[in-house]
Amino acid sequence: MATRVNPEFIDDLDRFGAEDVKMCYQCGDCSTVCPHADEIFKFPRKSMRLLQMGLESKIETTLEPWLCYYCGQCSEQCPREADPGETMMSLRRWLISRYDFTGIARLFFRSRIAEIAAIIIIALITGAFLLYYGFTGGNIGIYDGEGAFLPSGFIHRFDLTVGGILLIFLVINAFRMWNFTMLKNTSLKVPWWLYITEIWQFPWHFFTQKRYAECEQKHEHPVYMPWLLHLGLMLGYVTMLVLVMVFVEALQSGPEIIWEVHIFGYLASAGLLAGTIYFIRNRLRKNYIQYKKSHGTDWVFVILLTIIVLTGIAQHVLHRTGVYEWANYLYVIHLMAVVPWLLRMPFCKWSHLLYRPLAMYFAAIRREAVRRQETILNNYPVFVK
Ligand code: SF4
Ligand code: SF4
Repeated sequence: MATRVNPEFIDDLDRFGAEDVKMCYQCGDCSTVCPHADEIFKFPRKSMRLLQMGLESKIETTLEPWLCYYCGQCSEQCPREADPGETMMSLRRWLISRYDFTGIARLFFRSRIAEIAAIIIIALITGAFLLYYGFTGGNIGIYDGEGAFLPSGFIHRFDLTVGGILLIFLVINAFRMWNFTMLKNTSLKVPWWLYITEIWQFPWHFFTQKRYAECEQKHEHPVYMPWLLHLGLMLGYVTMLVLVMVFVEALQSGPEIIWEVHIFGYLASAGLLAGTIYFIRNRLRKNYIQYKKSHGTDWVFVILLTIIVLTGIAQHVLHRTGVYEWANYLYVIHLMAVVPWLLRMPFCKWSHLLYRPLAMYFAAIRREAVRRQETILNNYPVFVK
């Protein structure tokens, strides 16, 4: 298959955040210090080279950008200030836009106005729909049970619909990622059964984010702070998702607190709040190399998340203290932030929650395939070699 060269590729990637790729003179120092590069996945120098050569079709088949956890060591080491760490981050944004078949991710990464406009439109549609439903069938002064403004049964169906749409996009995108990185990448023959024997890698990396903890950068932070907060955020998302998809009836009932359900909501809220404060603080202070440059989409993400967490907490307090009318209004505002935030996921950086553990799984398959190939070659008679 012919390799497509795009001489404009570096300039295109500029819009995704990589500004200094041209500075790289291929010394290789970055790959030497990278804690995650190995014999099979050599980065970030190789990625910088492919970029400089404009080998777009080659880059879309690579897993390397997903194996980078943006510890920033390579950028600190680079003698040319080519910022390879940020380049890997930008490549992840670009890959997200390649896996997305709709073109929405590309539009959002390249135009903040388009992204904010889409969020506002979805938020307004959500708000108008919920207010219409509430005022035609319920009473704004009732939060739960008979005559409720937003009854839990309706919210459950609403959540499942939004979750279903999200799932459809994610499954299609994950399939496209597999197609690009495993099917189109024909440099290695991969036995099909490795997909079964290595399947544990996906949940393992999803739930532990283990490789993040291996970043050398941890010595700068007490108790592996970035990894812990990242883990807290991820567990917060998952817990909240399970609560609203499965336990929404218990969540909405009250004003009594059902501790066996609500305790998970409190823990998830605390994790999300701590993670959000930490990331906003670091992005404002630019105190670590990972936070020196923020793409517009990073800010949209944290601002929406902050609104969601704060309105969620305030609405919960108002409900428990009997201020039902304002609790209902705040619930509408809360959902006006939740819906665009969730629907935005397949088109933004947040989708790394799916792509990174998938990449770990695919990388493990490729490593095992290489190991088997080498074993077979080493066992061949010398004259055949
Ligand atoms: S990015 Fe920097 S450290 Fe890496 S190869 Fe290029 S010049 Fe060297
Ligand atoms: S940011 Fe860290 S993990 Fe990513 S390529 Fe650079 S050294 Fe490796």
